[in-house]
Amino acid sequence: MRITRRALQEVNQHAGEGYPYEICGMLIAERRTDPVTQTRRVRNVMVERARDRYEMDPRDQIRIQRECDAAGLEIVGYYHSHPDHPAQASITDAQRSWAGPVYLIVSCARGRVVDANAFVAEHDGGPMRGEPLEVLHFTLERVADGVHAAIALPGSGAQGNAAIVDLGDRTLVFDTLLTPQAATALRAAAERLTGRPPTWVVNSHWHADHVLGNQVFAPEATIVATRRTRDLMLAHRLAERLPGTLASREQELAGEQDPERRRSIADELAEGRLLMEALPDLRRVHPSLTFEQRLTVHGSDRRAELLTYGGGHPDDRVALMGDLLLVRSHPLFAHGDPWALRRALERVRELDLDRLVPGHGPVGSVDDLDLLLRYLSTVEEMARSDGERALEAPVPSPFDGWAASGLFARNLRFVLERG
Ligand SMILES: [Zn+2]
Ligand SMILES: [Zn+2]
Repeated sequence: MRITRRALQEVNQHAGEGYPYEICGMLIAERRTDPVTQTRRVRNVMVERARDRYEMDPRDQIRIQRECDAAGLEIVGYYHSHPDHPAQASITDAQRSWAGPVYLIVSCARGRVVDANAFVAEHDGGPMRGEPLEVLHFTLERVADGVHAAIALPGSGAQGNAAIVDLGDRTLVFDTLLTPQAATALRAAAERLTGRPPTWVVNSHWHADHVLGNQVFAPEATIVATRRTRDLMLAHRLAERLPGTLASREQELAGEQDPERRRSIADELAEGRLLMEALPDLRRVHPSLTFEQRLTVHGSDRRAELLTYGGGHPDDRVALMGDLLLVRSHPLFAHGDPWALRRALERVRELDLDRLVPGHGPVGSVDDLDLLLRYLSTVEEMARSDGERALEAPVPSPFDGWAASGLFARNLRFVLERG
């Protein structure tokens, strides 16, 4: 069974809130064979023995079934919690199971989920057998021959995008995501897609969500970056800043009413907490090979050209952009220079490119690059004409639906202060 980190998080949240009673709900996917991306809570109508039994409210079930039918979604399974008991199917669970759906059981100790396992029934009424539970950090998308983009799922511990390039005789991985857990999945995907472990790992820039998975690849793979990126990585003090960042996000969430904004802050918080959990095992691994302007990695089938102004990009008219390009997501001006970004984007524009893999958001095209250029001019224009008053204005169209909307005001302020 495959499930997104966010969906599993929803189950864990429900189990924690319901503790010490059993909670239950439904697992939902786009199609029967797709990963579980959504969950729905169902009331447990078992009142007398709610500590160790559950019975799903049939009215909830019918309502959710109707909703899913209307939205073209599939109910692929059920979840419930075992308070202070292992995440194993009990005899009762087996007796009441049906062949077909997947059953997810989470074990909850003192209000916290400590284990999760999936089961399927061999026949109606059992017996049940374990089903591997795979937590997804990203989706893979083929963007050209030998090139796959790993697009981060929100709240998954990946946070940034990455890419896998099959050079023919060697494998190159571009960026390594936020947590070692997500990076382990990336490495496994690279091995599965190319049939060999990665030889080259490129870090597009120093931000945590693009480099903290490095430890999973080294020392077998050589980690490559610009000299400047390596210097910035050496200077970055992550552990000291993380608790403060988490605390301010929690405050922000408490004061936020808008559901869309709440969701985006909650995702960021989830990423931060996953990173916090990973911290004790985290080793900072820095690039061992650096370059100044340009480096070409040659493979038997294709080559990757690493250009400092445009992230890395292999052949096939595909560019792996790192955070030079974000698709449907606000950029962050503060750690860079928006004017240099504009020049870089204009140079990338001159390359004859088809598909662009952004640092955040779905795979895009040159149109998305143009849209980001328009974003840069819009922010500049607003800062110039309205000054401080621009900070009060709503995010203008067509950028109003973009993720990380809180960055818009920060970007305006940045331009106001530097402009
Ligand atoms: Zn059970
Ligand atoms: Zn990033």
